[in-house]
Amino acid sequence: MIFFDNSSTTSVRPEVRTVYSQLLETTYGNADSLHQLGRASHSLLEKSRANIAQLLHVSPNEIIFTGCASESNSLAIIGYALANQNRGKHILVSNVEHPSVTNSMEWLKQFGFEIEYLPINSNGIITAELVKERMRKDTILVSSMHVNNEMGAINPIREIEKVVHTNPTCAYHVDCVQSFTKIDVPFEILDMATISAHKIHGLKGSALLMKKKNIKLVPIIQGGQQEQGLRGGTENSPANIVLAKTIRLAFEEKDEMYDKISSINHYLRNELNTIEGAHINSKEEAIPYILNISFDQMTSEVLLNALDSKGICVSAKSTCSSHSKNSSATLLAMGYDESIATHMIRLSFGKDNTMEEAHQFIKICKEIIQQYGLRL
Ligand code: PLP
Repeated sequence: MIFFDNSSTTSVRPEVRTVYSQLLETTYGNADSLHQLGRASHSLLEKSRANIAQLLHVSPNEIIFTGCASESNSLAIIGYALANQNRGKHILVSNVEHPSVTNSMEWLKQFGFEIEYLPINSNGIITAELVKERMRKDTILVSSMHVNNEMGAINPIREIEKVVHTNPTCAYHVDCVQSFTKIDVPFEILDMATISAHKIHGLKGSALLMKKKNIKLVPIIQGGQQEQGLRGGTENSPANIVLAKTIRLAFEEKDEMYDKISSINHYLRNELNTIEGAHINSKEEAIPYILNISFDQMTSEVLLNALDSKGICVSAKSTCSSHSKNSSATLLAMGYDESIATHMIRLSFGKDNTMEEAHQFIKICKEIIQQYGLRL
């Protein structure tokens, strides 16, 4: 099987699996219990938080463990908006965010928040100039993803941050799910940032929100004192503890992995360029981990199923919208025509992928295209 769907989720690293299963056996105490098993969980949990904070160049109390990036995004947006509404009710967000961002924004409208969607340009990004143009005195929050999950386009978050912080009462939240441990993320200048473990060869059900000390949030899960009262519920200690190792290992391999994935991406681009009817939709400057392509003769669904029958896993659109019938909103927003937007598939790469798999993918694509009657 060839798994080219790593933006949806990734395999769990063997090292993470081993430590996690040990923790399940030994560290099952409730981190809030006062007895020795509880204290042991608490101590390892806080050690993990401190290690993660060090890797991200932030303070331990700026790390809030959550259950998934969708929860982190919801907490960042709803939690921040409700806690800061006395300062203003205007929020800026790009028009191609993950549903956990857009649905949180839409939910806020019932409380009188004005949500302004910023259109991405033909490169798939929002520019700092556009943010500057739309910022108002009552703008309290700007939210954008770092790397687009369908196209791999990289938003200029350093430039946007400068614009956002010209207004001292405005915060910048960045969804870093598709960029974290792949390219540099400047956590030190962001107010809030979302990451998810299962996108970086870690566990499902494990994520965090980085939130600076001065940022006030209201909880969206009511409960006890856990996570500074921002996320009630018994800590998932084993998952939170092993997250530090997951991140450290991904950082250690970051450069080597980037080079390997770049070579795979480069090879696929070259080969696809020689196939009639093939289009490469991701721009050259996109992150190499995501390659969005289409073939004229096959809709996304037909191609996805044909590849699946040959043992190749890819996505059509992002996985969260995979059950909706319409075309890719991101491609349409970038100005691609309807036929490209309904024919695209997303290849996304991870640490287990090899050049041999890329060769195999091209071979199988050619076979499928021949079956569908295309000249090669
Ligand atoms: N944000 C982005 C950009 C994503 O690609 C995803 C998942 O695909 C998420 C958020 C949600 O992640 P999770 O599955 O951890 O909720």
